[in-house]
Amino acid sequence: MTPHVHLFSTGAGWHALAVDGSRIYDLDEAAAALLNAAGDGEAVLGVLASLGANPARPYIDGAPLAPPPVHALALAISSTCNLACSYCYAQQGSFGGAGRAMSWPVAKQSIDRLLEGAASRGAVTIAFLGGEPLVNRALVRQATQYASDQGREVGVTPRFSITSNGTLLDGSDVEFFEAHGFAVTISLDGIGQAHDRQRPFRGGAGSYDRIIERVMPLLERQRRMQVSARVTVTPYTRGLPSMLDQFIRMGFHSVGFSPVLATPDAGGALDGPDLSRLLSEMIDCATAFERRVSAGERYPFSNMESAMQQLHRGTHRPYPCGAGAGYLGVSASGGLYACHRFVDDERAAMGTVLDGPDNRRRMVWLSDRRVDRQTPCSGCWARYLCGGGCHHEAINRGRPACEYIRGWLHHCLQAYVRLLDCRPGYFGHPAVVAQPPA
Ligand code: SF4
Ligand code: SF4
Repeated sequence: MTPHVHLFSTGAGWHALAVDGSRIYDLDEAAAALLNAAGDGEAVLGVLASLGANPARPYIDGAPLAPPPVHALALAISSTCNLACSYCYAQQGSFGGAGRAMSWPVAKQSIDRLLEGAASRGAVTIAFLGGEPLVNRALVRQATQYASDQGREVGVTPRFSITSNGTLLDGSDVEFFEAHGFAVTISLDGIGQAHDRQRPFRGGAGSYDRIIERVMPLLERQRRMQVSARVTVTPYTRGLPSMLDQFIRMGFHSVGFSPVLATPDAGGALDGPDLSRLLSEMIDCATAFERRVSAGERYPFSNMESAMQQLHRGTHRPYPCGAGAGYLGVSASGGLYACHRFVDDERAAMGTVLDGPDNRRRMVWLSDRRVDRQTPCSGCWARYLCGGGCHHEAINRGRPACEYIRGWLHHCLQAYVRLLDCRPGYFGHPAVVAQPPA
């Protein structure tokens, strides 16, 4: 495996992903043979140069990102949850400690900090998470209204999102989320009993029927609001393609799968054989996506939609996400952390909403967490598409899913080339070819 290039084929012939800059080249047989023969040494760089890539001028240098302005905060709005999901990273909202609820002063201070650091006429995102955030519905509403009013005054547009288990939704939420254009994510782990096994109420009863009954009015009302389903994939999850199809037919704006790679007690996470099966089912879902999109339909499989857009934009990033950079999590007591999953974890503490983000700690985080500084990422062809995997999972479990990630990205590259050929209009604009820094 060479860290500079990844060779792949479709029915149209050979293609190469130049890793630095995420550029895709079509190859004739001779160039493909040359690349194949070049192995993983300097010769690869010579072949890349002959294709028009200029390896001497890297797109990504080794410099860590300087802490940018924070444009998104995730508020741990409620410390309790009415479900008892076995894999819950938040341990039902307590994050392993004593349960606490966020107070209005902490929510207000978070919003003030966020707006204060935002560029005028810019946009910021406020995400409500828990536990189950609707346990603290009054605070969600107060914070949303306050951010909308204050944002208007300072010329900043706040966007809102909420991740909910869906069991507590009521009619007034439909109106409220629609009025404020919320991105609502509902956690659903299967159809019927498959979901109930993973996401029971604390008393043991299933939650699926209740969720569907409460979510349907939201699905019917989506205009400004968008309602998505997120399926957490555990070793017991089966039948992804039919689940995807069924949730899309119900009217979810998008449906995505998220594998469990780390759990608080190390049980219930996916391992080698589970990940092979997951890859095969994800590819079946991707094949359905490609078939439907090629035929001109919308098929909102979000894992595939975001991969297609990233490849088309030429995304090449040295981090997996914005954690510790433009995105921070706020604990119930006002602590700032790298993201919502690190709330109350001192390893990722980054200041407080009272005193503001601790830029020294953010700088150390961004320097340490760069993908080129991770093992084995620095030698991996997928590093600027993957970014090194979720920091929380990598720190707590390591990187057990690399074969899965590379297999998925390999398939996405093939699908992208095919889709670009047969339905270029899907992408909306020409492919972005980034220019290396001068
Ligand atoms: S996490 Fe795995 S797949 Fe991702 S960049 Fe690192 S080695 Fe590659
Ligand atoms: S560290 Fe993981 S959980 Fe946190 S924002 Fe990044 S990908 Fe998401």
